[in-house]
Amino acid sequence: MKKLSQKEKDFLLHSIRTVENFPKPGISFKDISTLLGNEKAFGFLMDHLVDRYESMDIDYIAGIESRGFIFGAALAARLHSKFVPIRKPGKLPYTTISEKYSLEYGVDEVQIHIDAFECDKTKPNVLLIDDLIATGGTANASVNLINKAGATCIESCFIINLKSLCGDAEIRKTTPVYSVLEID
Ligand code: AMP
Repeated sequence: MKKLSQKEKDFLLHSIRTVENFPKPGISFKDISTLLGNEKAFGFLMDHLVDRYESMDIDYIAGIESRGFIFGAALAARLHSKFVPIRKPGKLPYTTISEKYSLEYGVDEVQIHIDAFECDKTKPNVLLIDDLIATGGTANASVNLINKAGATCIESCFIINLKSLCGDAEIRKTTPVYSVLEID
């Protein structure tokens, strides 16, 4: 498994646009649409993720709505794994399992289909993926959902970790975390 050099990380970092004060004042939004629109950067990132995960025994990749779907589905197809969406309330049509989590003000929720994972014989291995981890609330609730649905989350993967928020600390208590890029 090849570690990225600083030059390679900088190449990916420079492909991501920062939009200040979006979606509200004070937020520095990391816009991965510019990475997706750069075929060299997106291809390089996907090759790196395939290299990291192809030797791990991954049955499912669970992507968090909505940007986690893009990386998760592309990676699942490359690894010949199955893809499972984790969605905001009211979006999944069949019976769901829910997990609530706290925001700065109020609560939010993520859901997964009750039959998302085939758990007949052994617990399937799941890789969780999203574009970015900030406070970690969404990802932590998603790890809990995967476990509630009868599977094992073997790693959580993020393209970007906003390090100063320490969002990965809580998840690291239960599952390994891999971030391609760290931003202060
Ligand atoms: P959190 O639950 O605080 O870790 O927030 C993570 C979710 O919010 C991810 O699905 C991200 O896509 C999104 N998000 C949070 N902060 C940012 C940001 N600064 N730039 C882009 N996306 C963000």
